[in-house]
Amino acid sequence: MPDPDAIIIGSGPNGLVAANVLCDAGWDVLVLEAQPRLGGAVASDSAVREGWIHDTFSSFYPLAAASPTIAGLELERHGLEWVHAPAVVGHPLGDGRWAVLHRDRDATAASLDELCPGDGDAWLELCRWWSRISQPLIGALLTPFPPMRHGSSLALQAARSGGLDAVRRMLMPARGLGQELFRGEGPRLLLAGNAAHADIPVDSAGSGLMGLLLIMLGQELGFPVPRGGAGSLSSAMAARLEELGGVTRTSCPVVEVIVEDGRATGVRTADGEQITCRRCVVADVAATSLYGGLVDWGHLPSRLRRRMATFEWDPGTVKVDWALDGPIPWIGAPDRAPGTVHLAPSVDALAVAGAEAAAGVVPRHGLVLIGQMATTDPTRAPLAAESAWAYTHVPSTVRQLSPAADGHRGIEPGPWSHDSAERMADRVQARVEECAPGFADRITARRVLGPVELESLDANLVGGALNGGTAALQQQLVFRPVPGMGRAETPIKGLYLGSASAHPGGGVHGACGSNAARAALAHARVPSWLRPARRAASAPDV
Ligand SMILES: Cc1cc2nc3c(=O)[nH]c(=O)nc-3n(C[C@H](O)[C@H](O)[C@H](O)COP(=O)(O)OP(=O)(O)OC[C@H]3O[C@@H](n4cnc5c(N)ncnc54)[C@H](O)[C@@H]3O)c2cc1C
Repeated sequence: MPDPDAIIIGSGPNGLVAANVLCDAGWDVLVLEAQPRLGGAVASDSAVREGWIHDTFSSFYPLAAASPTIAGLELERHGLEWVHAPAVVGHPLGDGRWAVLHRDRDATAASLDELCPGDGDAWLELCRWWSRISQPLIGALLTPFPPMRHGSSLALQAARSGGLDAVRRMLMPARGLGQELFRGEGPRLLLAGNAAHADIPVDSAGSGLMGLLLIMLGQELGFPVPRGGAGSLSSAMAARLEELGGVTRTSCPVVEVIVEDGRATGVRTADGEQITCRRCVVADVAATSLYGGLVDWGHLPSRLRRRMATFEWDPGTVKVDWALDGPIPWIGAPDRAPGTVHLAPSVDALAVAGAEAAAGVVPRHGLVLIGQMATTDPTRAPLAAESAWAYTHVPSTVRQLSPAADGHRGIEPGPWSHDSAERMADRVQARVEECAPGFADRITARRVLGPVELESLDANLVGGALNGGTAALQQQLVFRPVPGMGRAETPIKGLYLGSASAHPGGGVHGACGSNAARAALAHARVPSWLRPARRAASAPDV
């Protein structure tokens, strides 16, 4: 292959989106992937048990369904088919009743009203408010920072929908917002559970908006999954890319971005090969791997090094996959089975779990997220069987054991070992058993992926972090990955950060990759004599 126009390091959804966008513009693109397969944290396998398909990492894609970039790729023409569970999310309340999110707001409202009269109307009122701000809000989140068009439309809609009250609502912690809006625990748990689904503690500013975003997207678009496994989404993106002439190489880790005169001119791979490119390098790698890793600090301003020292990872994760010979025997299982189930005894328990995790303690009652994949997509398991997973967030390094150490027997302080992850998985399994007696008897095989295993399967999942860095407010927008770096451009000309470490962060929406590709295309259109001079790496700090 002659020198490509662009080299993409990493083939996660952001890397594949960037590659597709550049190919659409007629560029020659080469994607280099460290792992033996494409797709990053969007992959599926049958390693747990033959005949059962498990999503190795991510599973549900409301953000992809909301993403104009992914819709614009028309992946259905390349084999992708979205499917939905009968209901979106369910949260058992511990007394045999469930809070359930449906794809129909009236159905959700009716079920919440049954749990606590009055909450149905409160739900519909919230939906009406959301419809007024959702378009510009989602537009602002998924486009490069600053979002001029969507931002001004959002400001206008917020002014029309309550002014300062609306802004306050968007900044509120999930726990306080739930208390203000609803009387019963059902909708409060839906809101807080979805906020904790990202890594923002339910008592932190902005967690309410994160919860609202996920539940409202879930209600409007569902939590769809690709038929046949998450890998079908990556395969469709790769098939589209290859049809356009893009080239992919797997088992090809990049160890260096070559920088000459302040410009990225190519990369060096682990086996010593040097590949040059004509226009740009897009890095779908963690910010911590790019800055001071693939690009030596000597090429970067020292203020970036100082700021990267404050970069915050999101917590680690322990994930367990089960091949079951029947459905999970939930107490009081809802008539319409949800694809996603959240377990947490109360919103207060989630608040305590957030504080525990921040203190390096393994939470006793942290959120357990469960995917019922054959319920959602029957191709995932033999007839009448279930392919299920659960994960929970844990401190990336355990600083102390919970006072309820009994529940965490076998989990050692320090970095996670596979044994500690297995014990954490036992704990998760026991939590499912409490709500679904007989669950353990249905398990025919299981696999546990702790922080170490997750990172070994995808280097971006540092310490088992899912989001490329915390989604908390202080590391969002113009602060992502560090203050002043809210766009895909880096201090190196022709090098763009296109991973979840960039704005707008984790989740499968492709916006980080699309922002990087569009920035590269925009720069290529501007004649070099018109481009503003960049500060040299050695320029004095601010
Ligand atoms: C267990 C789990 C569950 C999740 N659940 C969901 C979910 O249900 N819905 C959702 O929307 N999101 C979910 N996420 C988050 C989502 O998967 C990620 O935010 C998303 O995949 C980020 O995409 P990315 O392209 O930035 O990075 P990744 O998907 O992590 O891909 C990065 C790729 O770059 C490669 N790479 C890294 N370094 C190099 C190098 N030096 N050279 C070459 N290649 C390299 C890696 O091998 C990897 O293939 C989940 C994540 C995990 C781990």
